[in-house]
Amino acid sequence: MGIVVQKFGGTSLADTDKIKNVAKAVIKEKNNGNDVVVIVSAMGHTTDYLVKLSSEISKNPNKREMDMLLSTGEQVSIALLTMAIQEEGYEAISLNASQVGIITEKVHSTARIIDIKTDKLNKILNEGKIIVVAGFQGVTEDGEITTLGRGGSDTSAVAIAASLKAQRCDIYTDVEGVYTTDPRIVPNASRLEIVSYEEMLELARTGANVLHPRAVETAKVYNVPLRVRSTFKLENLGTYIIGVNEMEISKNVTGVAADTTQVRIVICDVPDQPGNAGKVFEKLAQSNISVDMIIQSYARHNLNTNDIAFTVDENDLKNTLEILENVKKELNASNIFVDDDIAKVSIVGAGMIDRPGIASSMFNALAKANINIKMISTSEIKISCLVNKNDAKKAIQVLHSTFELGSDEIAEVKGDLPNFV
Ligand code: ADP
Ligand code: ASP
Ligand code: MG
Repeated sequence: MGIVVQKFGGTSLADTDKIKNVAKAVIKEKNNGNDVVVIVSAMGHTTDYLVKLSSEISKNPNKREMDMLLSTGEQVSIALLTMAIQEEGYEAISLNASQVGIITEKVHSTARIIDIKTDKLNKILNEGKIIVVAGFQGVTEDGEITTLGRGGSDTSAVAIAASLKAQRCDIYTDVEGVYTTDPRIVPNASRLEIVSYEEMLELARTGANVLHPRAVETAKVYNVPLRVRSTFKLENLGTYIIGVNEMEISKNVTGVAADTTQVRIVICDVPDQPGNAGKVFEKLAQSNISVDMIIQSYARHNLNTNDIAFTVDENDLKNTLEILENVKKELNASNIFVDDDIAKVSIVGAGMIDRPGIASSMFNALAKANINIKMISTSEIKISCLVNKNDAKKAIQVLHSTFELGSDEIAEVKGDLPNFV
């Protein structure tokens, strides 16, 4: 017996029947004798719908007002789920982020949680009530509403689990766990029984959106036992995410992921002098823009200058270009080139450490499938290749079979097909 945090995503709450089904899963956990805190996302595609509404009003909506708008989705879910639990005869109360005290930095749309007040949560749990908290949202010290980035309810859940020292955090979703790749793209993807925090972090960062990367980061730092499981098959135990030294590594590659939300930018003919690369990226960092892959190479026609290529999230493109125009003038660079026809395809596995030949197998497999590689980056447990967007699906399928990740079973997935190239 202890505190269990449960998080339910949008597909699990898509309509009132599904909300009643979630209420049953919550009550099941309460009947196991646990104190239960539930974190919810907005219903179905509500957040996408709200984004669409804003785009009909403004091409570049104010970020504060976007947070005000998007945070409403989760508030609908907390009230309805709490009513559904009460209908079953259990005591429950809904709380938004301000009421809990989920304090974030003063950044709109991608805020990080800096503190969670636990007094109120503990008091209500001691009264025997189930608490239903709005995910994805936070509040600054001076009362401004913020959001944590798309998919951020996972992070709300893990952060609350960490602050309450919960015995576990269960992420309930529309698939039965973490798979070797997105089962919607490769139907015979295998469900992983366990995966390490490190590998899950790389998978999440490279596009496996089954978990928000910061949720995994937080779980790793605070050692929160994390599990991904199905809302629709409560009897299945899903995937455990645990520390790397607690598990045996058998395969070189654990999973394959793709990210189709980045754009590649090249700033051409930057004079080859110390400090210039720093100037380019310092300005971007000051505007809170995260840069992913970076390659600096001599410009083909002039060995005294460099071309610096890098990728950013497509949502940061406009800001990035504004900043780079000034940097271009300051450094006397020649051109800025944008390529939005890209996808980053990655293989991840703790088993690739000190095992040569994995990179060449990846490149050869892509070449055999006639897929051109535009950029490459590596870390200890990950290799990423930038390819054309149209090749992303084929690249995942080819790599998944090259590294023998398939299973005989066909994964069962609920919800709509993702908008994947
Ligand atoms: P929720 O609304 O519950 O937060 P998400 O859509 O954010 O659900 O995440 C679940 C989806 O993640 C699945 O439906 C699946 O298509 C996708 N996905 C991508 N990569 C993986 C993976 N490696 N394992 C499982 N699911 C994955
Ligand atoms: N509702 C938010 C989104 O759609 C947060 C989440 O679902 O985790 O991104
Ligand atoms: Mg999600």
